[in-house]
Amino acid sequence: MKASVGGYARASSLDHALQLLASAEGAGRVLAGGQSLVAAMNMRLSTGDLLVDISRLSELSGVSDEGDTLRIGALKRHADVGRDALVCAHAPLLAEAVHYIAHAAIRNRGTIGGACAHADPAAEFPACVLALGATMHVAGPHGSRAIPAEDFFEDVFATAIEEGEILTAITVPKAGSGEAQVIEEVARRSGDYALAGLCLVKRDAGHRVSLFSVGPKPILATGAMAALDAGDLDGAVAALAGELDPPSDTQASAAYRRHLAGVLLRRAVARTEGGKA
Ligand SMILES: Cc1cc2nc3c(=O)[nH]c(=O)nc-3n(C[C@H](O)[C@H](O)[C@H](O)COP(=O)(O)OP(=O)(O)OC[C@H]3O[C@@H](n4cnc5c(N)ncnc54)[C@H](O)[C@@H]3O)c2cc1C
Repeated sequence: MKASVGGYARASSLDHALQLLASAEGAGRVLAGGQSLVAAMNMRLSTGDLLVDISRLSELSGVSDEGDTLRIGALKRHADVGRDALVCAHAPLLAEAVHYIAHAAIRNRGTIGGACAHADPAAEFPACVLALGATMHVAGPHGSRAIPAEDFFEDVFATAIEEGEILTAITVPKAGSGEAQVIEEVARRSGDYALAGLCLVKRDAGHRVSLFSVGPKPILATGAMAALDAGDLDGAVAALAGELDPPSDTQASAAYRRHLAGVLLRRAVARTEGGKA
C-alpha cells in the first residue's frame, strides 16, 4: 500500500517550520527521519496530513558541550549518537542504546528527537533520557519550553509536545567521575523491539532505574531506586515487581515481562559493580 499524503513542505528554518505547522491548522505532521511516520502512513494509520520536513534544519542538529550538560539536537541520527565523541564520553548510556535499536538502515535515518516524540513504549531512547534525568526542549508558536523527561512521556505514543510545537533538543547531565550507565534488554532477535528493557544510572546522588516495553510509557522505578540506594539488591528486585504492571501480548506474558525486569536489574547492577552480566 502506498503512503497517503495531503501535502509536503520542506522547512528552511525553525521559524519556517513553525509557520508551516501553524498554517496547517492542526493537520501538520513533523517529518524527521521518517522511520516511524512513513511506516504509519503506509499502513494508513496517518493520512491526509501536511508533512513539514524538518530534516535539514541546522538549528536542530549537532551535539554541544554546555558545561555540566550536553545539548543533543533533535535531528541527531541514531547512528551518529552512537559514534559521537561527546556522547560516548559524557552520556555513554545513549551510545550503548544505539546497538539495540532496529537495524543499520533505520539507525542511519531515524533521529533521537523523532524517537522521543514518537514515544513508542518499547523504544530505547525515551527510557534512556528518563534514566539520565534529561530536559526536553520544544519550540512553538508562543516561544520555547523546557520539559523534564519525567513529565514528557504521557502515554502510548503521547507526549507533552502540543499542537504546533517541535522538539528541538535534549539536554542531559554530563556523567560525573565514577558514574556508571548501562542498558540491558531482552528481544527475540537482534534488532527487534525489546520484550523488556532496563536502564541503570549509578551516580553519587543515587541510582536511577527506568524500564521500557513494560507499560504504556517508559517508567522510572522509584521503589527499586530507593532500595538500590540502601544497598539492597533483593529488595530492589522485589520493589520492581511491585511497581510494574506490564501488558500481556502475543510476544510475552505480563508475568514473563515482570520476571525479565528483575533479571535485567541484576545484570545491570552486576555491570555497574564491574562484574559479569
Ligand atoms: C522496522 C523498524 C524497527 C524499529 N525498531 C526500533 C527499535 O528496536 N527501537 C527503537 O527505539 N525504535 C525502533 N524503530 C523506530 C525508529 O527508531 C524511528 O526512527 C524513530 O522511532 C522515529 O524517528 P524518526 O526521526 O524516523 O521520526 P519520524 O518517523 O520522522 O517521526 C515519528 C513521529 O515523531 C514526530 N516527530 C519527529 N521528530 C519530531 C520533532 N523534532 N518534534 C516533534 N515531533 C517530531 C513525527 O511527527 C511523527 O509523529 C524501528 C522502526 C522500524 C521501521
